[in-house]
Amino acid sequence: MIPYASAAEAEAALGRNLTAAEALWFRYSARVPDYLLFYHNILFLFVVFTLAPLPLALLELRAPWTISPYKLQPKIRLPRASFLQCYKDVMRAFVFVVGPLQLSSYPSVKLVGIRTGLPLPSLGEMVAQLVVYFLIEDYGNYWIHRLLHGRWGYEKIHRVHHEFTAPIGFAAPYAHWAEVLILGIPSFAGPAIAPGHMITFWLWIILRQAEAIETHCGYDFPFSPTKYIPFYGGAEYHDYHHYVGGQSQSNFASVFTYCDHLYGTDKGYRYHRAQMAKLREQWTTSDQNGGTDATNNNKKSD
Ligand SMILES: [Zn+2]
Ligand SMILES: [Zn+2]
Repeated sequence: MIPYASAAEAEAALGRNLTAAEALWFRYSARVPDYLLFYHNILFLFVVFTLAPLPLALLELRAPWTISPYKLQPKIRLPRASFLQCYKDVMRAFVFVVGPLQLSSYPSVKLVGIRTGLPLPSLGEMVAQLVVYFLIEDYGNYWIHRLLHGRWGYEKIHRVHHEFTAPIGFAAPYAHWAEVLILGIPSFAGPAIAPGHMITFWLWIILRQAEAIETHCGYDFPFSPTKYIPFYGGAEYHDYHHYVGGQSQSNFASVFTYCDHLYGTDKGYRYHRAQMAKLREQWTTSDQNGGTDATNNNKKSD
């Protein structure tokens, strides 16, 4: 809630006119309590989770040929029932774990100093904070995920997330309730260390959710804008982790590739890529030779 009765009062306090974005924010949030602004995240999580994976899921079920060239595990086609079951299971966790977690974390948000007032942060400030949040989340998630691949952690908790050996967007948050809770820590660590404005926090929740969905979507689109982000892992990177499954000691990081590279946990993935590249080279060479042979045979028969 903004501590000014009117926009004019806010302008007087700031010593300048409100920008268009600030005027909009004032109109929207002036009478809304801070806890309700924070609880918007529950709605954002629900909307992003429901809508973002939907186009690919519909295409995969109704017109798979349009996206098949980009499918990472082309032999795996999940039935409609699996998509629905996954959505239902995640929604159950959403109602019983994610929702209550969000509802009960408002005091922490207040404590770390996430603000809702004016002035709004500049675009540069928001981008810088979001980059920091992603780096912190990636680092924390890397170590937690790596620990969860120990025998006890995997059998008791992380096994659930790996039920999808060929992941789909809806399976991004598909996990044991304990994993959902634990992974909330690195997600909140960034905003706790570098607290910003509530709008930056909203964006963080939305972008992190969208990133996890893209990473699990099962397709590697060469035209994805995330291809331009340095050290970004993406769908192919994490898909390999699911493809190998419980035995995987490779590709633990959730967003970037540098942690796995630094700590030597991308060796399996790099070997796999090198083998695939070799195979592709062999196929191309044999195709070319086959083409030449065919031409020669035709000439002989002439
Ligand atoms: Zn894993
Ligand atoms: Zn995963």
